[in-house]
Formats: sequence, structure tokens, C-alpha cells
Amino acid sequence: MGLKITGRYIMLAVLLLMLAISGCIVMPISGLPDAREGVLDLHGLDQKQLSVVPLSGQWEFYWQKLYTSQDFKTGQLKASYINVPANWNNQLVGGRILTGNGYGTYRLVVHTDESPGSLKALHISVIDSAYKIWVDGKLIASNGAVGTSKETMVPQNLPQIVLFNTLSQEIEIIIQVSNFMSFTGGIGQSIRLGEANAVYNIANREEAIQYFMLGIALIMGLYHLLLYLLRKQEKANLYFSLMCLFFSIRTLFVGSMIFMHWFPGFNWQIATKIEYFTWTMGILAFMAFLYHLYPKKVDKRVARLVNLVGYSVGLLIIMLPAIYFSSINIAFQLLFLAVAIYALVLLLQPVIFKHTDTKLVIMGLLLLVIAVITDMFFIENNLQREMWVAAGIIMLVFSNSMALSVRYTEAFERAQNLMLEREIMVETMKKMNQDLEIKVKLRTAELKNSVEKLNKEIQERTAAQEQLKVFASMDVMTGLYNRATGMAMLEKQLQLAERNDYRVTVCFTDIDNLKEVNDKHGHMVGDQLIITAAQIIKNNVRESDFVFRMGGDEFVAVFPQCSQMEAQMIWQRINKNFDENNDMSTLGIKISISYGLAEYIPGSGIKMSELIDKADAAMYEHKISRSNGAG
Ligand code: GH3
Ligand code: MG
Repeated sequence: MGLKITGRYIMLAVLLLMLAISGCIVMPISGLPDAREGVLDLHGLDQKQLSVVPLSGQWEFYWQKLYTSQDFKTGQLKASYINVPANWNNQLVGGRILTGNGYGTYRLVVHTDESPGSLKALHISVIDSAYKIWVDGKLIASNGAVGTSKETMVPQNLPQIVLFNTLSQEIEIIIQVSNFMSFTGGIGQSIRLGEANAVYNIANREEAIQYFMLGIALIMGLYHLLLYLLRKQEKANLYFSLMCLFFSIRTLFVGSMIFMHWFPGFNWQIATKIEYFTWTMGILAFMAFLYHLYPKKVDKRVARLVNLVGYSVGLLIIMLPAIYFSSINIAFQLLFLAVAIYALVLLLQPVIFKHTDTKLVIMGLLLLVIAVITDMFFIENNLQREMWVAAGIIMLVFSNSMALSVRYTEAFERAQNLMLEREIMVETMKKMNQDLEIKVKLRTAELKNSVEKLNKEIQERTAAQEQLKVFASMDVMTGLYNRATGMAMLEKQLQLAERNDYRVTVCFTDIDNLKEVNDKHGHMVGDQLIITAAQIIKNNVRESDFVFRMGGDEFVAVFPQCSQMEAQMIWQRINKNFDENNDMSTLGIKISISYGLAEYIPGSGIKMSELIDKADAAMYEHKISRSNGAG
């Protein structure tokens, strides 16, 4: 948001700057007369208009002749006429079309209303490529050495202002020009005549603008070079810097020819090469700049083509004398126009165009395009064109720096935002970690807890299972083995006895008259009787013996490694206990038990059921005998 507003202000500032510069541009003063047939008549013009006058129009011209004032005094020379300012190339003079190479003499007579003796100045900018100038017969200035061949002449391009005093109201100006170096020859830019102060003022203003441009281009170039050196990834900076530096160098060699003022003797060929070379390289740098600024938008093939053409031209400029490459001036302009138009089309793409800085770049480019087109088609307005070029370049430099600055600012803001986001993320992550730690601790505790619970449950279940096993194998009421368990144990015992060759005695018991007890005293007492009987039997057998409840009031006691005789003795001991118990009985209920023994002898082949039946039978006999005996 802030960027946009700033952009608008900068745009406004640039526009004001443009206006200021254009105010300095010397517009051709309208209404001034042109020279006709070698005479410029300034009679009747007011003083203000007269202060500075371009010496444009038809000059006398003598092709392949070098005349001086003396020669004209005879009055016998036959004059041809030529248009100034314009190179003499292709001009029809004395019935023939001129080429660039050659020499000749220009002559113009100016009529004024002014009194003789006033101080005047001539401002001579570019004349290709050497000249000598006389005013009223007096040699007042020269550039290089005029000659009649390539060998006898020396080119020079040093704009200058020369002062002179008028002798009368008629001023005769004679200029000898020779050219064998440049493709174009003759007076290419207008010569200005005027009040010395006024001429200097205009020239100074033009030079000041050029220094200003030079300064901007140089500073921008160095600044962006520094930016590039600090951050080499940003190639756009490098090419922008190169563009600025090329333009700043070029600025030294055009218009007021600042460089030539510093070094008047500087080689004309090299100076011309520099002018063309920097222009070409500037265009290449601009293309590369665009390419690196909008890498996705610029067509690689276009960039490559421009490079190919640009570098080839650059090479030609270095290798060939000026006369060759200055002849293809149009090619440079076309190269520039192609690149500029391509850039305009590129920048007009909606995605790019919406940036404020893009609009500035477009304005700068347009100015340059206008300047170059003017150069191509209206070559007379040379100085004005230079100023347009200047304005365009400044605009371009400025707007491009804006584009880069906006980019930097945006990148910086992005970086800041990213950093902020990162910080937030780090904080969030820290918090998440903490939460996670707490959660992990909680979960671990929970897990531990549930593992403990599980262990406990497993233990409980195991205990329950054990209990269940016990319950399943026991007779709940008496605490003896139940029938199934007892039978299984007996079966196993018999197998062991068979294998280890020992005897097992089985004792079958049955409580006497339990029904009666039940009937008389109730089932509870009957139960108690069964429990007591079981207890007494169990308590009086060995560790290795076992007792189980066969059913109802019947128990079976098993005595391994025990003969029937020995079992008989055990039973007597048990019986004794019953007696003691009966003596202590408070209810007056006596327990009496009938029993029968059966002995298992290894190898006898007797089965368990037979053994039990045998014991049962013995028991029954015992019961019968006792009931008879007891009566
Ligand atoms: P006998 O002298 O011939 O053995 O006569 P008895 O009354 O003991 O009768 P018997 O042995 O033929 O039958 C056993 C009886 O014991 C049948 C039933 O009334 C009783 N009885 C069986 N199991 C239980 C029990 O668990 N509790 C009680 N209170 N009585 C039982
Ligand atoms: Mg019984």
C-alpha cells in the first residue's frame, strides 16, 4: 500500500523533472527566415528573436573546392546551393548527387540591422569530419585538418563557440569541410549565430543537462554495480548497471562532446567507435536487464537473437573504420527500435503493467523511441533529438531504478513477513512440543496404569482359574476330591502300581443310617455328619493317601504302597477317631461307618471298577454283619 503511494509521488517527481528538462530544450524558433541562395536576411526582426539564430537554409556550396574569402572577391565563382543543416550525402548539387566522401566550401552572407562592431558568437556543433571557418575574411576556428584526401586530412569533432566583432551589417561566413572518414559528411547540425551571452547561455544549459545526465547515469550505474557485487544472484542489477555505465560513457561522446573538451586531441576514430559501441552495448545490457527482471516473460530466443546481432555489430565496430559502421547507422536504430518495441509489448502485459514502476519504464522507452524515430526521419532537428534521447534515457534510468527498488522493497517485506511467520511457527512448534511432552507423560502414566491393571487382572484371572480348577476337582461340601477326580487319580495310581510293582488298597466306606439322621434331625445335621466323617477320614490318612467322595454318604480312601493288612490297621486308627468323636458328641448322634477293603496286586489284571466293586461288596458285607451282630 505504502509502495503504491510512494510510486505515485515518484512518478509525479519524474514528470516534473521531464518538464524542467524540456524547458531547457532549445525549440526551433518559429518564424525565423531561412537562408536563400546563400543569403540570410535578418532585416526587420526584433532584437529578442535575433539573440540566437540558427543558420539554416540554402548555403552557397562549392563541391571539391577549397575557397577562402580572397577567392570570392573576384566574383567569378559559380555557386551551387546546399541545404544546411544536413549531411551532404544524397544532396543534389550542381546536377550531381553527392556521396559522403569529399570536400567542399560553404558560404553564407547574413544581413542584419545591427550597428557594426557588436560582439557576436558562432556555436558550431558537429561537422563531419574536419572544418575551417572564416568570418569576414578572418579565420576564426577549425576542427582537425581539412584536406583533399584521406591522407591529407585529420578528423576532429569538437563543438565550439567562437567570438567575433562585426565589421558591417553584412557578415560573410565561409566554411571549408572535408570528409573521408565518416559515412556522412558536411554540416550535420545547425550552426547558431547570436549575441555572445545568449549563445553561451544556451550552450551552457545544454552542457549542464548533459552533465546532469552523465551524473545520473554514472551514479545509478555505480550504485547498481555495488548492489550487484553485494548480491551476485541479482543479475538484473549487473545489467542495469552496465546499461547505465554504457549510457554515461556515450553521454561523453555526443551532443556537447564533453570528453572532447577534456581531451581535444583524442583520436576521432576511437571516439566515434566509443559512441556507437556504447549505444549497441547499452541496448544489449537493457535487453539482458529485462531478461533477468522478468525471466519468465522474456522469450529466450528473442534475447539470444538480440545478443547475436548486438555482439556481431559490436565486433564490427571494434574492427572496422568508422566509415563502414557509420554507414549502417540505420541498423543500430532498427536494433534499438526492435528491442524497445519488444520491451513495450512485454511491459504492456497486464501482469507486469499493473506495477507503477512499469509505467515509468514505458514512458522512458516511449521517449527514447520517439527520439530515435525523429533521428531516423527528421534528421534536421538534431539537437532536439539529442535532448529527447537525454530525457528518455534519464526517464528510463530513473524508472528502471524504481523497478529495481520496488523489487528490493518487496523482497525485503517478503523476507520480513517470512521471518515473522517463521518466528510464529517456531513458537507454535515449541508450544506443540511442550503440549506433546505433557501428553506423552500423561499417556505414559496412563499406559503404565493400564499395564498394571492388566497384570493385576491377569493375576486375578489366573488365581480364579486356579480356584476354578480346584473347585472343579473338589467336592465342595466335604473338601475331599470329587468322584471324577478321585477315580482319575485312582486310575493313575493303579498304573503306577503296576509299573512300579507295589500294592494299592482301596477302602470303600458308607455312613450307617444317614437317612434316619436326616429324618430325625434334618438334612443340615445329616450334612454335618457327612462333613465330620470326611474330615476324620482325611485327617487320619498319610500324605501319599487320598480320599474322595463317591457320592451321597459314600467315600473311597486309596492307600498306595499299602497292603490290605496294613490298610486294616489304618482303618482301625480311623475308627478310633470316630469313637473319640462320638464320645465328645453333644447331640447324641453317633457316627458309625461301614467299610470294605480291596487290594490291588500288580500283575493281577484286575480293573479299577472291579476293585471298587470288590471293596463296595466287602463294605456291604461288613454293614450286614454288623447290623446282624449289633442286632
Ligand atoms: P444304611 O445303614 O443302609 O447305609 O442306611 P442309610 O440310611 O445310610 O441309607 P443309604 O446308605 O442306603 O443311603 C444314603 C442316604 O443318605 C440317602 C440319603 O437320605 C442320605 N444322604 C445321601 N446324601 C446326603 C447328603 O448329602 N446329606 C444328607 N443330609 N443326607 C444324605
Ligand atoms: Mg449309609
